[in-house]
Amino acid sequence: MPFSEDIKIKALVSCGRKCCICHKFCGNNMEIHHIKAKADGGDDSFGNAIPLCFDCHAEVRQYDPRHPKGIKFSEKELILHRDNWYKKIKQENQQDNDKVR
Ligand SMILES: [Zn+2]
Repeated sequence: MPFSEDIKIKALVSCGRKCCICHKFCGNNMEIHHIKAKADGGDDSFGNAIPLCFDCHAEVRQYDPRHPKGIKFSEKELILHRDNWYKKIKQENQQDNDKVR
């Protein structure tokens, strides 16, 4: 099962459609990645979702443990990237609201 429409929307709004790793604005070019893979028992919850650009999504997925090169993105790291980024976007939105008032 993919993520539900509600979870996708919540995740996309939380990140401002900016990638949680490289922070660039992506518009349509975003994907919601399962932090814990479905094959490993990951679910379709908001907590297991991280919005990424195509490039970062490819990076996160392409690591080959049989031929290690660089440092793999761990589940823990992805969660921290996402939570820090959601927080930053929330703060920016808050500041924008304050300016309007
Ligand atoms: Zn990215």
